[in-house]
Amino acid sequence: MEWVQLYEEIQNKLMNNLQSINFRNNYDYWIFDLDNTIYDFNLGLFRRISQRMTIYIKDFFNLNHADALNLQKNMYKKYGLTLRGLIIEKKLNPEPFLEFVHDVDFDDLKKDHELKRLLSKINGQKYIYTNASFKHAKNILTSMGIFEEFEIIFDIKDSNYIAKPDHNSYIMMKEKLGLNDKNINKSIFFEDTAKNLKPASELGMSTVWIENDFNREEANLLKEYINFTGSDIKSILSNMLDY
Ligand SMILES: [Mg+2]
Repeated sequence: MEWVQLYEEIQNKLMNNLQSINFRNNYDYWIFDLDNTIYDFNLGLFRRISQRMTIYIKDFFNLNHADALNLQKNMYKKYGLTLRGLIIEKKLNPEPFLEFVHDVDFDDLKKDHELKRLLSKINGQKYIYTNASFKHAKNILTSMGIFEEFEIIFDIKDSNYIAKPDHNSYIMMKEKLGLNDKNINKSIFFEDTAKNLKPASELGMSTVWIENDFNREEANLLKEYINFTGSDIKSILSNMLDY
């Protein structure tokens, strides 16, 4: 199936569902990925983090740039998270790595009053579920003026450095966020990385994919695990909550 067709199909599904779903009453648990979900992918913030990973790997293992980038990509492909692979295969200490890679400047991130307004319309609990560190999440959310909107930030340390989309990460997340077989259908999960929606959907969560070109093919393959989609977090929340 072509992407355009999928796109239309999902748009239709979103439109149809929007007319029949009362999102505010239907969902008690609103769970958001952080990077490229809460803030706009186009800011390039995550790209800068990724570049710092390459620098760290290059210096730490004494590699040239190409080999460092290769190792980074391979670990990501194999484990879903570069850091996870480096811990398992290279016995890397995660703390200094996380400290270094997240040391990017946040000048591009401005207070986002519109996002704050939308988040404040949600009746249920609001959580962050990220493969990054708590400190990074706090930096970003504080820069955007929305840190106080979230009750719990579930970070990579909380999941013992086991990252999305590993099923075990979701099990730990469920536990910490108080989700169980009875209430999981009251949860909705927002992500830009399409493959991270599959385990969530299999556990019974509703899923929202934030559209982006990197993940289009994957989203196409995984469309049965995607309930809703939209171009960015604010337009999606506005569609769900402004009525
Ligand atoms: Mg993300």
